[in-house]
Amino acid sequence: LTGRLGEVFDRLKRRGALTEADVTAALREVRIALLEADVALPVVKDFISAVRERAVGQEVLRGINPAQMVIKIVHDHLTDMLGGDAVEVDLNAPAPVAIMMVGLQGSGKTTTSAKLARRFRLRDKKRVLLASLDVYRPAAQQQLEVLAKQAEVGSLPIVFGEKPVAIAERAMKIAAREGYDVVILDTAGRLHIDDVLMDEVAAVKSKARPHETILVADAMTGQDAVTIAKTFQDRVGLTGIALTRVDGDARGGAALAMRSVTGKPIKLLGQGEKLDQLETFHPERIASRILGMGDVVSLVEKAAETIDREEAEKLAAKIQKGTGFDLDDMAKQLRQLRKMGGMKGMLGMLPGVAKMKAQLNDAKLDEKILVRQEAIIMSMTPKERRNPEIIKASRKKRIAAGSGSSVQDVNKLLKQHQDMAKMMKQVGKLGKKGMMRGGLQ
Ligand code: GDP
Ligand code: MG
Repeated sequence: LTGRLGEVFDRLKRRGALTEADVTAALREVRIALLEADVALPVVKDFISAVRERAVGQEVLRGINPAQMVIKIVHDHLTDMLGGDAVEVDLNAPAPVAIMMVGLQGSGKTTTSAKLARRFRLRDKKRVLLASLDVYRPAAQQQLEVLAKQAEVGSLPIVFGEKPVAIAERAMKIAAREGYDVVILDTAGRLHIDDVLMDEVAAVKSKARPHETILVADAMTGQDAVTIAKTFQDRVGLTGIALTRVDGDARGGAALAMRSVTGKPIKLLGQGEKLDQLETFHPERIASRILGMGDVVSLVEKAAETIDREEAEKLAAKIQKGTGFDLDDMAKQLRQLRKMGGMKGMLGMLPGVAKMKAQLNDAKLDEKILVRQEAIIMSMTPKERRNPEIIKASRKKRIAAGSGSSVQDVNKLLKQHQDMAKMMKQVGKLGKKGMMRGGLQ
């Protein structure tokens, strides 16, 4: 997959301009590549048509060529389809929180249970109890006991002949009594999906009422991934997926298929047999891995950054000309800030601002505030944005109502705009003294 897409994009990169035929050709190759990665056909079809829909009519970013634009669209859409942001296993429930691991035999349930227990202990400072519900495979319960020792977490004493539902009940009772925060229930798997397995897992679930039910699946599963994920989702109900053996030749195709078929986030990646080889699933990283074009993506990101830089330069020029910093400029700044994840990013971009760092840090802007501030500005008329001084009491009321905020918030924003404008003026002056150029490079 990697080689193939790499070739396609190399070919596209070499061209000056990208025709519509090129886009179609590129998507055809993407389609073949995804199919080769064992992504199920319906998933591939959805993916391709959504990417096409996204691409059509989309402006090509300045500073990058159309081929790179296609890459960015493919990559972004793949990231979205994989869930967008990383989602952690959720422990936010009254203790003891039950986490149930389900999946076929050999998928890595027991190993992942122990890895997760270790992570909860070390990272989240939780007291964890591991309980094996696998009464079928010889020594399966002992296997978990050994792993629990390695992970330095508790394990439920083995009672010979006990049934899975009873084991789960006992685990929850003991956990409550002994003050455990988390109970991980490691269920038994079968070689194939069967009704007996599904019924048992469903029975355990209704008894233990786990906060999370995580399907553990081998990343090498291929086309079966869809059937497995769909069956578990329909018969048991899932809250997340753990993908194991991502350390091998796994192509990540299973991730795309399982996410798309269940609508549930992939939360974990198993990257080896050792207990510390567990990672939080990051959709963007996997997208890059599936497409095998991390370099291209960072190139496009750099290009996008260049555009931000151009915006900053334009702004700097405007300030130098003394035309002032209006609310439209502020909105643009807020948007950039949000894109770059906060103040630090902007500091590097705005010329000569480093010196004002301390001042800016006091502003303590966070994501939510940025969104609200942007909403307030968007509720203003263009005239108001250019001439903030005309915004008096009645206009403030209207703007507050339009943006779902209070007049106080509007006042705060206007005050902040004044502060920023003042600061920008200072920057402009510095620029005239020659610091601007240094800052821009
Ligand atoms: P279960 O039957 O679902 O409980 O599967 P196990 O946890 O017993 O795992 C089966 C085999 O897969 C064991 O040999 C594990 O060491 C191995 N295994 C589990 N997770 C991973 C992983 O992420 N990478 C690799 N390379 N091996 C793994
Ligand atoms: Mg097992």
